[in-house]
Amino acid sequence: MKTTLKVEPITSWTHHKQRPLVISGPCSAESKEQVLQTAHQLAASGKVDIFRAGVWKPRTRPGTFEGMGSTALPWLKQVKQETGMGIAIEVANAKHVYEALKYGIDYLWIGARSSANPFVVQEIADAMQGSDITVLIKNPVNPELELWIGAIERISKAGIKKIGAIHRGFSSYEKTAFRNVPHWLIPVELKQRVENLPLICDPSHICGNREMLLEVSQKAMDLNFDGLMIESHIDPSVALSDAAQQVTPRTLVCILNRLVMRNPESTDSDFLSVLEELRGRIDIYDEQLIEILEKRMNVAKSIAHCKKENNITILQTKRWAEVVQKNVALGEKKGLTNTFVNDMLRLIHQESINHQNQVMNEARINSVELEEKNGLSSTG
Ligand code: PEP
Ligand code: MN
Repeated sequence: MKTTLKVEPITSWTHHKQRPLVISGPCSAESKEQVLQTAHQLAASGKVDIFRAGVWKPRTRPGTFEGMGSTALPWLKQVKQETGMGIAIEVANAKHVYEALKYGIDYLWIGARSSANPFVVQEIADAMQGSDITVLIKNPVNPELELWIGAIERISKAGIKKIGAIHRGFSSYEKTAFRNVPHWLIPVELKQRVENLPLICDPSHICGNREMLLEVSQKAMDLNFDGLMIESHIDPSVALSDAAQQVTPRTLVCILNRLVMRNPESTDSDFLSVLEELRGRIDIYDEQLIEILEKRMNVAKSIAHCKKENNITILQTKRWAEVVQKNVALGEKKGLTNTFVNDMLRLIHQESINHQNQVMNEARINSVELEEKNGLSSTG
């Protein structure tokens, strides 16, 4: 389903001029000292725009630390007064929203478990109605773009104009190098679907460790994300939640300093002419690819005519397995990954089967339709 969703540009909810906007702070607000010390070190770096802290924590298993709740809200208010940083917390029900609004919290984020549940998102949206709060919506735990867009739509329909999206990766049953698999194309497509949408990457929950934070942050910057949300703790080793992925404010600054910021556009004429020439070559190859695919489909249709005359099925599994094997091996020699060649051949095969099916069955199916129609008109 196409949407014509539009939100206000990032400049409407932060005065920050330069990419990346940085949101940092602990996974959980644990004590007044931990919150204030972390916040003051982050503020002193001059690199953090918004202070984050989880107050109500959605934990996978019961019996673990579930956050300090409303007790932590005055600490966050104090952070705002003493450092000037905006404050962001997670809300997961209407009560959380009312509490956050009461304490003057600036940014509310909807967590990945909540954004997967339309009832929860709707309850949160209803509680926000009429306020001019900024809302950041994390991707749902499952890799479903429409569900993410649906959550944004619900918040937007509640009259909230300042909306951003946070990409924190997606759950998978398979063990991977990531805690949550990024599936980068999903946020990239989201940005195309929602006009002006500010996009923030949360490398902490994608990685689940400190070691990969720089690599994932750099990738987000190269994909032109607007900001980063990175968890930081005065002493990560004793953190009550997500200890393995939090960094000290000092390490955060090192990561930020090492990011290479590339421009989405350039006015350098030498660079532009080289780029134009290279893009011209890409365009030619893309055109050739389409023409070759057209030729391939025509051959598939000829095969279908032969098969039809000889009463042979469309699919011969053995032949297809050979095609895949041969071309995956060839692709490997040419520097193409196995997954890519496999996926590409699967798509081509599907299209080929559709064409063959049309040749072999269309006339027959059409005649049934015709018979049905005639039958109907004769009884009607
Ligand atoms: C968090 O930001 O600490 C958090 C719980 O995130 P998510 O909803 O992405 O798991
Ligand atoms: Mn966390």
